[in-house]
Amino acid sequence: MKIIFDFDDTIFDTQNFKVEFEGIFYSMGVSKELYRETYYSTKVVRGNKVFYKYSLQNQLEAIARINKQINLEQLTGKMDVFLSDLKRFVFEDFYQAITGLNKEDLFLISFGGGDFKKKKIEGSGVAKYFSQIKTGDDKSEMAKELLLDPGEKIFVIDDKPAQLEVIREVLPKANFFRLRRFNSKNTEATPMAFTEISNLSEFRAQIEKINPQKSP
Ligand SMILES: [Mg+2]
Repeated sequence: MKIIFDFDDTIFDTQNFKVEFEGIFYSMGVSKELYRETYYSTKVVRGNKVFYKYSLQNQLEAIARINKQINLEQLTGKMDVFLSDLKRFVFEDFYQAITGLNKEDLFLISFGGGDFKKKKIEGSGVAKYFSQIKTGDDKSEMAKELLLDPGEKIFVIDDKPAQLEVIREVLPKANFFRLRRFNSKNTEATPMAFTEISNLSEFRAQIEKINPQKSP
């Protein structure tokens, strides 16, 4: 059995993270307007699907370029301190979901590469639970690179149905779960091919149903 997890909004509370993340900018004198104006994201188009990726470095540099009062080094330093410990944003049910499972069966793939994503994952402290971690612009490529045995039972979980569809291109036989937490802002419907669940404990229960653990 292998499990492929998504990071943002699946095991990491990205909504609450964003509130504190923005707060760092404001505490350093960046206005809300300047923050919004410089929050560039790059479109990644894949067939009829559109994903957005973000670069922290670009935003920091743009802010310092537009508002000369802002010291880029200070802002970067403060952000680095903030990003160094993000354990409080990991959803508690993640730990429950992986209890007793082997590290070699757990994988993390996260859309949007770059330093920012890597720092977030590092800061969250979850890297040690996974045998492989991939970040990049194409989840089908990342899933392929995991080199999983297609004969194995594979479970994939993501909050974005479009990402599940991308992964399904390379792992057509896997079991797909769409996570829709109660407080989620995402209103997209869950396609029939995916099982909708509202937390990771439910995900674990579904895994146990499909792939019962042998008792020791
Ligand atoms: Mg996500």
